[in-house]
Amino acid sequence: MTAAIPGWTHTYSGKVRDLYVPDETTALGDVVLVVASDRVSAYDHVLSPGIPGKGVVLTQLSLWWFEQLADLVPNHVVSTDVPAEVAGRAMVCRRLEMFPVECVARGYLTGSGLAEYRVSGSVTGIALPAGLVDGSRLPEPIFTPATKAELGEHDENVPFSTVVDQVGASAAASLRDLTLAVYARAEGIARERGVILADTKLEFGTDPTTGAITLGDEVLTPDSSRFWPADLWQPGRAQPSFDKQFVRDWLTSDASGWDRASDAPPPALPADVVERTRDRYLEAFERLTGTTLSV
Ligand code: ATP
Ligand code: MG
Repeated sequence: MTAAIPGWTHTYSGKVRDLYVPDETTALGDVVLVVASDRVSAYDHVLSPGIPGKGVVLTQLSLWWFEQLADLVPNHVVSTDVPAEVAGRAMVCRRLEMFPVECVARGYLTGSGLAEYRVSGSVTGIALPAGLVDGSRLPEPIFTPATKAELGEHDENVPFSTVVDQVGASAAASLRDLTLAVYARAEGIARERGVILADTKLEFGTDPTTGAITLGDEVLTPDSSRFWPADLWQPGRAQPSFDKQFVRDWLTSDASGWDRASDAPPPALPADVVERTRDRYLEAFERLTGTTLSV
C-alpha cells in the first residue's frame, strides 16, 4: 500500500522505496519524490510487518551522508521540503537515468563475496590472497559490481568487463572510481566513530540535463551497507552488526522455521525481532551521525 500524496502521482515501487512524480511542472525541473517506506527486505523477499521508523532513518542517514560526500560526487537531492504525508521519510530528487549496475565496494570479506571466494579464490574475477576468512580485511578495497535484477530476481555478481559491456568503458571506469572514492571517505568517517564499514552498495545515474554521473538512491544506510562495531571485530566468524543482518540471521535460524531454498514466503517477523531490528537501525544512525532521531 502506497500513500496518496496530493499533487504527486505514484509511478514505481521497489522493495523498499516508492517513487512519485509531480502532477504539474515545477520550478525544480524534472524531479521524483523518493519515499522510503518502513518495509524491510531480506533475501529478495519483502517481509512483514515493517520496521516502525525505518523509512525516516534511511532517509535522514542518506541525507547526512550525501552532505559528507558532496565534494566527491554530485548527488540527486534537490530539496528536503516534502509533503506532510511523508515528512522525514522522503526527498525531492533529480530524476536520473539509472545505470543498471549495483556498484558495490568491499573492504572486508563476507556475504556473497565470501561465498564466491570460497569457490574460486576471487570475487567478481578479482583474485584475493589465500587464507581469508569471514570478516577478513581485504588488502585494499575492491569494486565488485552486480547486475540490477528485475523485481523478484536475484542480483548477480559480475566481473568488471560485464559493466564495460553494459555501459561502456568510460562510464564503467567512472562508476568504479567513484564507488571506491565514496567507500574510502565513508570508511574513514565510520572508523572515527568506532564503526567498520565492511561493504556498501551505491547506485548512480546520469543527470539528463547536465550529463553528469550522479549518486542516486539511498547511500550508506543499514539496508545498503554492512556496519560492524569495530571493538568487536574478530575475523573467522559472523560479525555483530548494526544492519539488517539481524533479520537475515533470524530468518535463516531454526527459530523462524523457514527454508531459504524453498519457494515459500518467509514467516512474519515476531514483535521482538521487529523491536531489536528497529534498535539496530537507530543505533547505526546515532553512532554514525552523533545525533539522535525521534521516530
Ligand atoms: P532493493 O534496493 O531492495 O533491491 P529495489 O532496488 O527494487 O529494491 P527500491 O530501492 O525500493 O527498489 O526503490 C528505489 C528505486 O528508485 C530503484 O529502482 C532505484 O534505482 C530508483 N532510483 C533511485 N534514485 C533515483 C533517481 N534519482 N531517479 C530515478 N530513479 C531512482
Ligand atoms: Mg534499492
